[in-house]
Amino acid sequence: MKNPHFGAEQTPVYPFNSADELTALCDQHGLSIAEIIIANENTLRPEKETRAALDSIWEAMQQCVHNGCHHHGTLPGGLQVKRRASAIFQNLSTHPEAALADPLTILDWVNLYALAVNEENAAGGRVVTAPTNGAAGIIPAVLHYATRFKHSPHTTKDKPRDAVHRFLLTAGAIATLYKKNASISGADVGCQGEVGVACSMAAGALVDYLGGNHHQVENAAEIGMEHNLGLTCDPVGGLVQIPCIERNAMASVKAINAARITMSGDGTHFVSLDKVITTMRETGKDMQEKYKETSRGGLAVNVVEC
Ligand code: SF4
Repeated sequence: MKNPHFGAEQTPVYPFNSADELTALCDQHGLSIAEIIIANENTLRPEKETRAALDSIWEAMQQCVHNGCHHHGTLPGGLQVKRRASAIFQNLSTHPEAALADPLTILDWVNLYALAVNEENAAGGRVVTAPTNGAAGIIPAVLHYATRFKHSPHTTKDKPRDAVHRFLLTAGAIATLYKKNASISGADVGCQGEVGVACSMAAGALVDYLGGNHHQVENAAEIGMEHNLGLTCDPVGGLVQIPCIERNAMASVKAINAARITMSGDGTHFVSLDKVITTMRETGKDMQEKYKETSRGGLAVNVVEC
């Protein structure tokens, strides 16, 4: 296909099909994963358009968290699930001194960001699909955590938004590895393909944000999936509410922990991201159909609907 801007073939400058190939490209050309992706995107459109799109994605994520923090009441669908984000937001905002006594208050904020997004999703609000709507809270929660609580060496006076762009580009690169080699669908491979993939994306992207190298990004992404392997999809009542909303909060914290474990090492590790992706695909294949978005197994049959 012709490039509408440049009239060239739409061939990526740096093609890759696996994490090994991607990190080898980074080694060979001295580039980060985000730089590899932006070079590939530049064959499709001018770079400023890609960066404007990334800004608009981040803007939509922030708006979604804001909306979730200010909407009250019960979610639609009949389960009578009460929204929790607004009360948590109110509590955290009106008692800032509590954070002095409990350093884990930061986790309350991470939980809040994820709950806010997934409550918006359950209510039909606007979310950024990342990589699915059911798992839409994890990337925004971890990116909110990063921008509010952590410094990035990629944030400079000249490039104030570079760290956020890199986060999203790195997360996207990780998602493509799952899309190419496994699946990002709960109906295909269970929740490991949705919440697991989002956790992996966020873990790797956070490492880049914190200044980790591409081997550390690969390491964190691998940890983010390894501990979600076998996660089933069993939404109560067929609604993306229980366990989905809380599950996004849990996976956001897991992603942050994966990044922290990784940043304490040098990126060398035993299980590769490619191997964990293969394992996820095969585990999904072996999973009984009732655990793949059918609401015929797991919590969906053991929780009595009111
Ligand atoms: S349990 Fe199923 S519907 Fe809910 S987030 Fe996971 S994959 Fe999506």
